[in-house]
Amino acid sequence: MSGRHNLPFFIPHEGCPHRCSFCDQNAISGAQRGPSPREVAERCDALLPAPGAGGQFEIAFFGGSFTAIAREQMVALLEAAFPFVQAGRAAGIRISTRPDAIDNEILDLLAAYRVTAIELGVQSMDDRVLAANGRGHTAQQTRAAAASIRARGFSLGLQMMVGLPGEKDPVRAAAENAAALAALCPDTMRIYPVLVLCNTPLEVMTRKGSYRPLTVEQAVRASAPLLEYFEQKGIRVIRVGLQDDGALRRHLIAGPYHPAFRQCCESFLFRRRMGNVLQGVLPGDYRLLVAPGRISDAVGQRRENLRAFAQRGYRLTITDSCALTGREVRLYGTRQREECEATTCF
Ligand code: SF4
Repeated sequence: MSGRHNLPFFIPHEGCPHRCSFCDQNAISGAQRGPSPREVAERCDALLPAPGAGGQFEIAFFGGSFTAIAREQMVALLEAAFPFVQAGRAAGIRISTRPDAIDNEILDLLAAYRVTAIELGVQSMDDRVLAANGRGHTAQQTRAAAASIRARGFSLGLQMMVGLPGEKDPVRAAAENAAALAALCPDTMRIYPVLVLCNTPLEVMTRKGSYRPLTVEQAVRASAPLLEYFEQKGIRVIRVGLQDDGALRRHLIAGPYHPAFRQCCESFLFRRRMGNVLQGVLPGDYRLLVAPGRISDAVGQRRENLRAFAQRGYRLTITDSCALTGREVRLYGTRQREECEATTCF
């Protein structure tokens, strides 16, 4: 959704045939019930820009299985949102749903209401893991749904989880899931490390000791390479880690929650690249260059990257250079050289 903003409506658990092991949408969204069609219309009217000026906004129905809710209710919600798209106050409608709640008839209906993007909660492409988490669908259903969505010209978003019960090696499972999902050619990805929320089957499994949540460090190690992987495939990662509006942390029992999880992943990737750049270089004082805006990612949370290298004898200074982009890292030289040649932009 490049450059666009969502006007989100949460429909917690609506349409869900059952509870997946890890899920509590009330906790994640902070909402106890979905909006009525009238509430959708009122909020759209209050918050969307003037007619013709809504090209940056999409009306989004998240937090449940939109296409599995009662048909009259689904249509009523679309009817409430659609006039704002027709009037140019929003560019379109986004929805999230389950892979087994997509068929041609539903896609016809969504197209008629100018739904532009469909996100599928996939979570895993391993049928054994899907079954262990009560998902109630198979990887093949995901493949079929993704193909139908793309064939009809909708933007396809996929959501995957990292560290699900039943995965023996979370790093390897994450990489395998990512490869299977990239093969479905999504436009966007969301990556969510598994958190243990209260009153979920996962809480019971955790308390019994049959599930051990990842640490933040483990979750970063499994998630960070996916960022690079999807980028290389031209797939935009629009979210890494759950967002907390206060409700999430109140319901959090255990697991790798970090308020800046994506930045932790970026720092991990920078640490790896910094290590590559310093390979074969004798310990000492060095200056590394990174792209503008990436210094804090290279330095790491609480300077952890700098501290890690300092323990190995590398005292690093990080400076930005407009000659670099993305996660490029370049060894500029020693601090002494920098003192002679310092400029603001190398
Ligand atoms: S993960 Fe999706 S399908 Fe499962 S309970 Fe949550 S919202 Fe419903």
